[in-house]
Amino acid sequence: SDRRAINFYAGPGAIPLPVLERVHAELFNFKGTGMSVMELSHRSDEIQFIIDDSAKRIKKLMGLDDQFEIIFLQGGGSLQFLMVPMNFSQPGDPIDYIDTGYWTGKAIRAAQSLGRNLKIIASSSDYNHTSVPNLNEIDTRPGAKFLHLCSNNTVVGTQFHSFPEIPIPVIADMSSDFMSKQIDVSNLSVIYAHAQKNVGLAGTTIVLIRKEMLTKICEGLPEIFDYRTHIKNKSNYHTPPCFSIYITWQILRWIEEDIGGLEKLGKINQKKASLLYDFIDSTSLFHCPVEPSSRSQMNVVFTIPNETLEKQFIYETSQAGIIGVAGHRTRGGCRVSLYNGVTQEAVETLIFFMNKFAKQHS
Ligand code: PMP
Repeated sequence: SDRRAINFYAGPGAIPLPVLERVHAELFNFKGTGMSVMELSHRSDEIQFIIDDSAKRIKKLMGLDDQFEIIFLQGGGSLQFLMVPMNFSQPGDPIDYIDTGYWTGKAIRAAQSLGRNLKIIASSSDYNHTSVPNLNEIDTRPGAKFLHLCSNNTVVGTQFHSFPEIPIPVIADMSSDFMSKQIDVSNLSVIYAHAQKNVGLAGTTIVLIRKEMLTKICEGLPEIFDYRTHIKNKSNYHTPPCFSIYITWQILRWIEEDIGGLEKLGKINQKKASLLYDFIDSTSLFHCPVEPSSRSQMNVVFTIPNETLEKQFIYETSQAGIIGVAGHRTRGGCRVSLYNGVTQEAVETLIFFMNKFAKQHS
């Protein structure tokens, strides 16, 4: 059957249909080469063009000029949990982290494994990660090499809606909200985003590094872990995940040419999220535990305060072709992810289904 699922997976997840159609159309013959992108040498002009043009498009979409270097790496968000502290601090150096749940926990443990003097300067653990700490109240250490935070917390469904203005560099794991809206980068020094959520395909991780940070990179790292190696080699130091970067490129083109940029995309994503949150808040059956000002536009978590009914709900969604509604295995409940590939129509279909279910069980 060519009927597409209504896909709310937390990532990898939905990819915009026009992108899949374009990929399909040129799968056997990319730009007259007589080859698929998958068959092209990573040293070919075509692959280097895709890499360079992707970086150029990110810069243009985000309005970055030339203050950032943009590279495409492998190893996922998890490798960045190590590369960030390896590049910008040495054993014993103070580094500050904000703890907002599952993924920052992994980032913190990774940095600690390198023997850094890591301090958690703010945490949402006291309230079970149902809101993000107030950034106006954070206190970083004067000598700290950087502050690390996660902009959107995929598992617990919270999101920072701004970044702190502080004297030390701010490094953001933006894996699950990068390229979902326009952001103000003025307070950010490094941004990284694994795939696939809003752009790309699993296999590539996008890293943006403010040029002034390059002078702070520690000497003596193995070449592959040093960000400068990948900048110097235009993300082609070793065989890059060419097809993943190609899909990233197609999605970036879709954002620019089909949608009309990040401002417009942000409005579309905001609309999807508010439709769902407003509906949840209007019912007595569904409950969103996240404090309203910390709610994520990307990952909407909610519960049905009756375990049997909740299980039945998740089962019935899947029977109806609505996929990926179960919460993260560490949290339970439900989670619906609204990345770029998810249409408003898909959200409306879900709400229609939830409404019917609520009526049946009230
Ligand atoms: N950070 C965040 C916010 C994530 O959501 C994820 C994965 N879902 C990661 C990091 C880890 O990325 P990876 O699986 O590529 O290591």
